[in-house]
Amino acid sequence: MNKLKAIRGMRDVLPDETPMWQWLEKKFRHMAYRYGYQEMRLPLLEPVSLFERAVGEATDIVSKEMYNFLDKNGEHITLRPEGTSGCMRAVLENNMCYNKTQRLWYQGPMFRYERPQKGRLRQFTQFGAEAFGMAGADVDAELIFMVRDLFRELGILNHVRLEINSLGTLEERKAHRRELIKWFEQHRTLLDEDSLARLEVNPLRILDSKNPEMQQMIEQAPRLLDYLHEESRNHFETLCLMLDRAGIAYQINPRLVRGLDYYTRSVFEWITDALGSQGTVCGGGRYDGLAQLFSDKPLPASGFAIGIERLLLLIQTVTQNDHPDWHCRPDAVITSELDDDGVQALLLAESLRHENGALNILVDCSGARLKKQHQTALKTHCRYIITLNNDGEIRLWDLTDNAQITTDKKQLVDQLSKRH
Ligand code: ATP
Ligand code: MG
Repeated sequence: MNKLKAIRGMRDVLPDETPMWQWLEKKFRHMAYRYGYQEMRLPLLEPVSLFERAVGEATDIVSKEMYNFLDKNGEHITLRPEGTSGCMRAVLENNMCYNKTQRLWYQGPMFRYERPQKGRLRQFTQFGAEAFGMAGADVDAELIFMVRDLFRELGILNHVRLEINSLGTLEERKAHRRELIKWFEQHRTLLDEDSLARLEVNPLRILDSKNPEMQQMIEQAPRLLDYLHEESRNHFETLCLMLDRAGIAYQINPRLVRGLDYYTRSVFEWITDALGSQGTVCGGGRYDGLAQLFSDKPLPASGFAIGIERLLLLIQTVTQNDHPDWHCRPDAVITSELDDDGVQALLLAESLRHENGALNILVDCSGARLKKQHQTALKTHCRYIITLNNDGEIRLWDLTDNAQITTDKKQLVDQLSKRH
């Protein structure tokens, strides 16, 4: 028989990993709360056209990475590859920015048909924050502050670096693009196949190339930063100033272009060197032009997304995969040698849970012999083993000091609260 397997690039999060996920999710939620961001829960399925328009047809995501299909009505549907476009759709559709601004966050799975490898999956999870209706560099800085706070809280701030750039406005990009194409045309012989394909559709992305033979030529290519007009330049300088004032170290990387078409002005990435080439743990920026692709009213916006699987890989590397909050141990395991189909053990657990709502109690329902039950209980690293004996007594075994006492149902609760 063929073995059943998960789809390539899609992985299970097993119970020994979920405490770590829950710990991280709690940190995200708390960070969002402290900065006044509210949670959005968005659909996993969206119309294909949303991303074709928003992310851009010339991007890797839309041109080759989307999970598209026709639904029973013949509509073109896709599994969302990212969260920003859906968030913008929801904000506009629900008229959420009528006379007000919004600070929002979301978390959930994203889908991209990419080659699976370390830190790159086909189903992965993003935590994202988006701020709508605010055009200034202060909000861009706030988003970066948030991530800095989170990374500090997670103990990884010293293992990531911040790179920033400005992609200007559409008009500024157009002027730069003309010069950029000219430059690449002059050095056409140096361009690889990928870059030749990008030359007409998305020349900015050539700057992103990792091909070592092209590096020198790319270094000398016209810099978008030199094509910014006063307003964009001021915006960028204000952002830099605020980062300086907040004591956030950063590098200006004129080649940072991000893989999505919708960005304008500020863009940033938090990068680690600890994970090989999949080093970007957070990417974000401003996307003031996006709303106008869907509505006639402009709506400035800015945001970021963090790849949770990559972030967890980094945290595990840095902490050597050990953290007190990542274990889920039962407080007590109830074992029994009574020949009663497990009735007494189950009822004892119920009354203990009733008396103390904080206890995590596991009942051994295996039907195994007592010795085996104890062996199993010890493997859970529980604090107590409680045993219902044949002679009607209850034994409480405290594994922290190895004390064993005999007690009865009534005293057991007192004993537990005295020790706990
Ligand atoms: P990369 O350059 O690594 O392909 P990207 O620019 O495509 O990243 P974004 O679309 O900006 O990434 O997504 C934000 C974050 O989501 C990334 O920084 C990364 O942490 C995470 N991410 C993106 N694609 C994947 C993937 N296939 N598997 C796991 N995480 C991913
Ligand atoms: Mg990518």
